[in-house]
Amino acid sequence: MPATDAPPMVRLRGVQKHFGALHVLRDVDLDVAAGEVVVVVGPSGSGKSTLCRTINRLEPVASGEVLVDGVPVPAEGAALARLRADVGMVFQSFDLFAHRTVLDNLCMAPVMVRGIPKAQARTEAMALLERVGIADKAGHFPAQLSGGQQQRAAIARALAMKPKVMLFDEPTSALDPEMVAEVLAVMTSLAEDGMTMVVVTHEMGFARRAADRVVFMDAGAIVEVAPPEQFFAGGGSDRTRSFLSAVL
Ligand code: ADP
Ligand code: MG
Repeated sequence: MPATDAPPMVRLRGVQKHFGALHVLRDVDLDVAAGEVVVVVGPSGSGKSTLCRTINRLEPVASGEVLVDGVPVPAEGAALARLRADVGMVFQSFDLFAHRTVLDNLCMAPVMVRGIPKAQARTEAMALLERVGIADKAGHFPAQLSGGQQQRAAIARALAMKPKVMLFDEPTSALDPEMVAEVLAVMTSLAEDGMTMVVVTHEMGFARRAADRVVFMDAGAIVEVAPPEQFFAGGGSDRTRSFLSAVL
């Protein structure tokens, strides 16, 4: 659970974003405390991915503030690269490097970006593979792994950079149903270990169990923010209630 008086790990203030004529983020304000797990839900096209991507500036914003650990996200250059090293991201598609082993996938960025000695990077990577339950796959190539194993490798790869915050954008949406649970279990254990997490997902069970707060987005705006027990009780706005009746 988040400490009450710590400065937020992520702060969005008055964030506006357009794609041409489309207003995709409408005056978005959100604070994510250190150690907090925020689950973002909402209909397809409501701006959830865009919100996630503004946090590490994969999407620049037209106006408003984005801060990570109290520092405004830089527009470009080395400062932006440093920021991105602190913000781990896991997507729907596992996007591991296909021609590298799982172990190499985990070691590349720590060695090249953080300047960690190779031997140390390998030791730390093996510990992470152990943690996500695929240490036996270290020498395999991504295509030799199941989807669930690949996504666990992708999570371990993001963790190898020792990020301050982890962003997950529908990390289980591309998985066969029997593999969803193993990925959610890894995410739940990360949450329990105190990782700051922003998770876009349609897995309402995960939101109930793991979220400190649920954010409901609709048409580019944050419509509701509530602890899961309150959010799922359905006492919120009409839009929230109609969304819940469609997904529950
Ligand atoms: P969600 O993740 O909630 O499904 P997105 O953030 O992906 O929503 O998209 C929000 C809206 O912005 C959608 O209408 C989508 O079609 C549009 N959009 C997303 N990315 C782009 C882009 N690169 N160019 C133009 N429109 C985009
Ligand atoms: Mg999306």
